[in-house]
Amino acid sequence: MIEEEADKDFEALMSPHLTIEARSLMDDDNYTKCPRCWHYHTIKINYDGLCDACCKNILEGWPNHESAPFIMANLDNQRKLFTR
Ligand SMILES: [Zn+2]
Repeated sequence: MIEEEADKDFEALMSPHLTIEARSLMDDDNYTKCPRCWHYHTIKINYDGLCDACCKNILEGWPNHESAPFIMANLDNQRKLFTR
């Protein structure tokens, strides 16, 4: 039974009629484009729409970057939101 299902999945993957659905996140309200790395992400509460990776990279790699104090302040505010 399980093998038959696997065979069907395999056949579907190998079909020349396979269609792949691609959609853009550009118009998806759930996603924000990070202004630094241009990746779309769902973290809307970071400073300036940055993704978590870019916040971390700036704070660790460029601690004197002009946006570092704003990122730190934003993180402090987030901590207050999530700590009781
Ligand atoms: Zn980023």
